[in-house]
Amino acid sequence: MSTAFFTHADCRGHDMGPGHPECPGRLAAIEDHFLSTGLADVVVRHDDAPLARLEDLAHAHASNYLGELDEILRRVGEEGGLVAVDPDTAACPQTRQAALRAAGTAVAATDLVIDGHAENAFCAIRPPGHHATRDAAMGFCFYNNVAIAARHALDVRGLQRVAIVDFDVHHGNGTEDIIANDDRMLMVSFFQDQLYPFTGNVPTGVNMLNVPVPAYTKGDQVREIVEYQWLPLLDKFRPEMIFISAGFDAHREDDLGRMGLVEADYEWITARILAVAAKHAQGRVVSCLEGGYNLGALARSAAAHVRVLAGV
Ligand SMILES: [Zn+2]
Repeated sequence: MSTAFFTHADCRGHDMGPGHPECPGRLAAIEDHFLSTGLADVVVRHDDAPLARLEDLAHAHASNYLGELDEILRRVGEEGGLVAVDPDTAACPQTRQAALRAAGTAVAATDLVIDGHAENAFCAIRPPGHHATRDAAMGFCFYNNVAIAARHALDVRGLQRVAIVDFDVHHGNGTEDIIANDDRMLMVSFFQDQLYPFTGNVPTGVNMLNVPVPAYTKGDQVREIVEYQWLPLLDKFRPEMIFISAGFDAHREDDLGRMGLVEADYEWITARILAVAAKHAQGRVVSCLEGGYNLGALARSAAAHVRVLAGV
């Protein structure tokens, strides 16, 4: 069985302007590194995912939000320029295509894995998703790719229980908002306390464990959280599929966070998630890129993550 590597040129079209950390070069850095290290030859590349459809997006987002956002994205597509949808998040003429492609890719990867054509999948997509709430774009995110894919697995593909693991340095407030008290879903994460979006200390539902950690936390402390807090909950929940919000901005070289993870920590966390998936979920894992803004650290960390997924 293989590991699928999903990406698409459309996801590089979204550009929030010079100097913005969530930039098209992030995907180029990952692809270049995968090519130069030979990892590109180990995974099976897919760049044929369709755009997300309204019914896909509606599994995670309110219909009035989807209508209003689509109007903004279509208008900037016609008029050009940049439109701010939140202080950190702007739409350019290519954003609609990129955001729909990112969400559609997460759904296509989910179908591929459920259909048994790949054991697991990594989606190098942007814009990211985990700050997008049920009814708001924020924090570089428009559609919550992981929540949309996870709900697709439940509502369309008939799975009973899915877990979302979020190791981005920022709290996945959007995912929390969408899945709160949906007892078919469990979310586990850690996040840097007192960092954007300044939420997560009070859970919005009973089906989540999001652990705040202080700035400058290193990998060994994060591994203890995974070992003693995430894994027992995941094991008890017995997910039939695991989704990963794979942000690599807790890396010590990343300036958007103040954490101390390194490539070996991402390897270790990925291996532990895979062990849960092997035990309960027939190995089924779909991982979607979230943050990660130091291009070198992002590329190396994503490669470390995907090498474990691919078993090489
Ligand atoms: Zn982040």
